[in-house]
Amino acid sequence: MIVEVDEPEPGPGQVVVGIGGAGACHSDLHLMREFGDGLLPWGPPFTLGHENAGWVHALGSGVIGLEIGQPVAVYGPWGCGICPRCRLGIETYCENPAGAPVPSGGGGLGLDGGMAALMLVPDARHLIPLPDGLDPVAAAPLTDAGLTPYHAVRRSWAKLVPGTTAVVIGVGGLGHLALQILRATTAARVIAVDTRPEALRLASEYGADLGVLPGETAMQQIRDATRGRGADVVLDFVGTDSTLALGATVARPLGDLTLVGIAGGSLPVSFFSVPYELSVQSTYWGSRPELIEVLDLAARGLVRAKITIFTLDQAMEAYRRMEDGTMEGRAVVVHVIA
Ligand code: NAD
Ligand code: ZN
Ligand code: ZN
Repeated sequence: MIVEVDEPEPGPGQVVVGIGGAGACHSDLHLMREFGDGLLPWGPPFTLGHENAGWVHALGSGVIGLEIGQPVAVYGPWGCGICPRCRLGIETYCENPAGAPVPSGGGGLGLDGGMAALMLVPDARHLIPLPDGLDPVAAAPLTDAGLTPYHAVRRSWAKLVPGTTAVVIGVGGLGHLALQILRATTAARVIAVDTRPEALRLASEYGADLGVLPGETAMQQIRDATRGRGADVVLDFVGTDSTLALGATVARPLGDLTLVGIAGGSLPVSFFSVPYELSVQSTYWGSRPELIEVLDLAARGLVRAKITIFTLDQAMEAYRRMEDGTMEGRAVVVHVIA
């Protein structure tokens, strides 16, 4: 629903950003459809849009190092700012959520986000100046659809040496960037899995060595492609019972199975049911230093989101297309400031 809200005013240390682009994330669909009362410590009403970039519009008192009109990306997870994790820039895992502007959230996740002309950012530390060569529309999806897979891939770098294989399940907004991040930062062979043949076409455009449709033969195809060894790292950008089961079946002993998708599936673990020493973890978003690294990769042309632009009044259409599987890459909502 589109409503008029008051123009935000920056308090001390705060910044108002004129939004250049706000990515539409599948998590917004989960929020709208599945996350009922109680699952999250916050709820509506708030403006959606947690992948944002734009230009500095207004500075609160005491903010130094930023200028009006400067292009910036917004680091989206907002913690307390002073606990050890926040000081390291890992605000996703803030250890004092009660001291954050909203517990375990941020702009577009409990507080007003970027699907508006202007967005209030509660502390200047959340803004990363855009490197040359990157405009706000291109940068916006990188703050989540880029940062989240970057974090997931980066923590497995040591397992992605030459001769290894990574499997990406789900080649949507996050997955198509995961493929490029794997290509740009590791020597692993890359296998893409998606239910949509068009997504597999996109995957091969972005450098996947093999595309596989899930189903009875998927496991065997991945086993054959890895000469029977299995995949060193599986990144699941869907997260159903069946994608997790496929991931565990094709993973190699000592490998990583990383759950990013929020479809709510689970994976039973017992002594014989998963490969020995398989590490299974979920990951949430990424750190501020990692966002700086992703923006650098993109400014150098090594990673680029495939973007379809929607105006604010077309935003629901973007979510509809994501839901019915006709979106390629990422939808970015733009708003021209009057
Ligand atoms: P998307 O809709 O753009 O892409 C999902 C892709 O998965 C589509 O290409 C779809 O065809 C494919 N898919 C669906 N079911 C499948 C199946 N059973 N097997 C293989 N492929 C399948 O979504 P997105 O915005 O890229 O988000 C992906 C998931 O990651 C969502 O669940 C989202 O909520 C979650 N997410 C998690 C984090 C995090 O920090 N953990 C951050 C952002 C998004
Ligand atoms: Zn998201
Ligand atoms: Zn903190």
